[in-house]
Amino acid sequence: MHLSTANLYNLKVMRKDKKNSIVKSDSNHKTEVDWKPGIRPNFLNAFESSHESIILIDKNRKIKFWNYGSEIVFGFSANEILEKPLEALFPVDLNLIQNQIIGLSDLIKKSSVNKTHAGQKLPVLGTLKSGEKIPLEIHLNGSLEGEDLILVLVHRIGLDDESITMLKWTEARHNQIQSELEYRIRFENLITSISTHFINLPSERVDMGINYALHALGEFAEVDRAYIFLFSPDHRLVDNSHEWVNHGVQPQIQNLKGLSVERFPWFMDRIEKLQSIFVPKVFDLPEEAKPEREEFEREGIHSLVIVPMVHRGTLRGYLGFDSVKKEKKWPEDITGLLRIAGEMFVSAIERKKGDQALSEAKAKYLNIFENAVEGIFQSTISGSFLSVNPAMARIFGFANPSEMTESVHNIGEHLYLKKQNRIEFMRVVHERGFIAEFESQVIRKDGSIIWISENAREVKKVDGSFDFFEGTVMEITERKLMEGKLIHGALHDSLTGLSNRTLLMDRLERAIERTQRKPNELFALYMLDLDRFKTVNDSMGHLYGDKMLIAFARRLEKFIPPGTTLSRLGGDEFCMLVEELRDIGQATVIAENLLDVLSSPLEIEDQEIYTAASIGIVIGQGDKHYPESLLRDADTALHRAKSSGKGRFEVFDESMHAKAVHLLTLETDLRKALERSEFRLHYQPIVSLENSSLIGFEALIRWIHPTLKLVNPLDFIPLAEDTGLIIPIGRWVIWEACRQLSIWQKLYSGQKLTMAVNLSGKQLVDLDLVRQVQAILTETKVNPTSLKLEVTESAIMENPDRAATILTQLKEMGIQLSLDDFGTGYSSLSYLHRFPFHILKIDRSFVSKMELGNKDTEIVKVINSLATNLGMHVVAEGIETLDQWAILEGLTCAYGQGYYFSKPLEESRATELVAAGGFPKRSPKV
Ligand code: C2E
Ligand code: MG
Ligand code: MG
Repeated sequence: MHLSTANLYNLKVMRKDKKNSIVKSDSNHKTEVDWKPGIRPNFLNAFESSHESIILIDKNRKIKFWNYGSEIVFGFSANEILEKPLEALFPVDLNLIQNQIIGLSDLIKKSSVNKTHAGQKLPVLGTLKSGEKIPLEIHLNGSLEGEDLILVLVHRIGLDDESITMLKWTEARHNQIQSELEYRIRFENLITSISTHFINLPSERVDMGINYALHALGEFAEVDRAYIFLFSPDHRLVDNSHEWVNHGVQPQIQNLKGLSVERFPWFMDRIEKLQSIFVPKVFDLPEEAKPEREEFEREGIHSLVIVPMVHRGTLRGYLGFDSVKKEKKWPEDITGLLRIAGEMFVSAIERKKGDQALSEAKAKYLNIFENAVEGIFQSTISGSFLSVNPAMARIFGFANPSEMTESVHNIGEHLYLKKQNRIEFMRVVHERGFIAEFESQVIRKDGSIIWISENAREVKKVDGSFDFFEGTVMEITERKLMEGKLIHGALHDSLTGLSNRTLLMDRLERAIERTQRKPNELFALYMLDLDRFKTVNDSMGHLYGDKMLIAFARRLEKFIPPGTTLSRLGGDEFCMLVEELRDIGQATVIAENLLDVLSSPLEIEDQEIYTAASIGIVIGQGDKHYPESLLRDADTALHRAKSSGKGRFEVFDESMHAKAVHLLTLETDLRKALERSEFRLHYQPIVSLENSSLIGFEALIRWIHPTLKLVNPLDFIPLAEDTGLIIPIGRWVIWEACRQLSIWQKLYSGQKLTMAVNLSGKQLVDLDLVRQVQAILTETKVNPTSLKLEVTESAIMENPDRAATILTQLKEMGIQLSLDDFGTGYSSLSYLHRFPFHILKIDRSFVSKMELGNKDTEIVKVINSLATNLGMHVVAEGIETLDQWAILEGLTCAYGQGYYFSKPLEESRATELVAAGGFPKRSPKV
């Protein structure tokens, strides 16, 4: 049921006993308004027609009652204003009013006696229906009973003109502040919302976030385009990376990629100095900014503002707003806004870049970890693995990394062959923080043992305490084996397996040190040389020679006392170092035993071969200091042993050294002797023993040494042979002898003289010899039949096969061949038929000892008859007495030479002899 009154507002108030509501009704519709106790409805009737403005509002400030007085003051009818909020009337001072409402209700709540309260009168600005604002005074009343409704009494205040103007100014000012405040709030809200948005933005959504933020910023600033440009790392190019455009505005982002910064110097100059660029009118840009102006005009820009984007002090790009549709008046703080936004963008972009780089790096390192050839691991101090890569598992023979990490819990115990290695590993890492190329042997899953090399470091926690080990592992088994072989190879002789010179030198050095510490001890260095090795090697071939050396080495090994170093220096040269000896006697006993052992035959290819060795010994007694000189001295002693008859030993003494030094100087001089023409030939006559007629000469070389004067062939020929100088010297001898012979033959053609020339064993292996002899004969026009070449048995034995070949060729040329010094060498008559000799020269050692009927005479007799039977002529050497001549003549020995007839003669004396037609004819019997 509705109450109705006759007043023009048609406001009806329900009776209290009926329903607690106020009803506003007009002809068109009715609205029921909540009624709450507080203001008694019968008051309302009185208020309705009051000329005073009386308004009732509820707790939400909604207008619930509006009287005639209010309509007069504000111009609104009840219909227009009821249910509207109070701020429709007092928009400016709303806060003031609100505060008082709150204060009132507090007072009412606290007071127990006074149920109604009135607030202070407030001067406020009211807004009329016309929109005009006028100063008013309001008075608020609240009561406990009517706590939900507040009575507002409104009074007009009378004002003069000046006050009104002032008031209007204040209001305008107020409005401006209000709108600025609103702008600032929106600004701050915007920044807050963008920054909260960016804080937790995942890097893959950064671009979207920036686009969204550009949109919000653009709309807020009411611009047409908001955008970001980023520099290339070298700052030479710039890219439009993000853009937002307003409706109807042409996007530019696609056209603005990879722009060269050189195109916009004016612009870049400012940006580089981190200045903002503020262009209200593009048209007004200065002349020097022409390229920029043209570009902006091309893009249709009227106004723009740009701020640099800086990250950690470095310029990364810039952020800007364009106005395209019109010239724009920019708010003063627009650059501030852009700078703040720019900072957020650039740090998000950098974060995204960082994240990208990080995830790329992660992927890269994961890839390296997974595919590395080296094993990579992280392990704990207690000896478990935190992680291992597939290569690591493979090295240790596990199927995969997890099998390895799960099965190994005590690295020191399970993996290292020697537990000590793990302890050492930890010690070094703790001491230095790392370990490099740590080599050790480890046990694989299948039990096999391999070598590894580790590099590792200690990884620490943030607080500096130890966290875990991290490192790499490489298998080096192959290398280790190789190294072992190399080391062995470097110190051992590959043929015999004995130690080599390097190792011997090292041992010698230690032996020297030892004797210096212990003066009562001495050591002996034995140098051995197989006497017939060269012959065997040349005749039986190198393979056989090698076998002989090996057999010899094994024989020595069996013999040597414990602690002896046995080495092969090369060729057939062996060394033996025996330490801790008491005296020289002990050393020579060893040498004697050694010679004894070596005298029994070696067995090679089921064949027994007799050999003997010569030994040179040097004794170390703490007085020797250098291994090299010990070796040299042993060598000197060895040479002495060999030259004094082979199969024997010699102990080095200082005189040997002096001799060796002498030999060395001699060698140097010998090298120069040929070019200095220091050689001469002497000629010893060879005679018919029947009547002493001159048959020919034997050419014997002499060396006229600048200081030593005359040097005998026996003192320098062996040296010439050792050094190879014998080849050129020997050639010279043949040439000079033939030259001399051809002179004599020309001058004294009736005598049919022959010339005997000695050949060394070395010349007998020189394949060029035959050709050279041929050339000399041709050049000197000597008939080959008048040349006799003499060789000794031992010269042939150096290489019998080669010698046979060469000698046969010489014989075929028509040259006569003599076997010299017969009886001193192997004296194997059986050899004779193998070689094409015409003449046999009986060595003077037999001839000089001949006495009638003695043994030597018998030997000479046998040799002579044997040779004659073989069709050879015999020449007896070294006839010094008439008796010797007579005996030889009696044995029907055909030819002879010796001091009895003549010593070797200088060229001039020999020429005189030839010129005289030889010796006067006589016979030993006469
Ligand atoms: P050979 O070929 O047996 O020469 C004979 C040596 O006996 C010569 O010594 C000679 O002077 C010496 N002789 C001769 N008659 C007598 C004598 O009645 N009593 C004594 N006590 N000695 C006598 P020489 O000249 O000192 O030569 C020694 C060796 O040097 C030669 O022995 C020969 O093997 C070698 N020789 C000499 N000249 C040459 C040469 O041009 N080339 C080569 N390869 N060897 C040479
Ligand atoms: Mg001779
Ligand atoms: Mg001789």
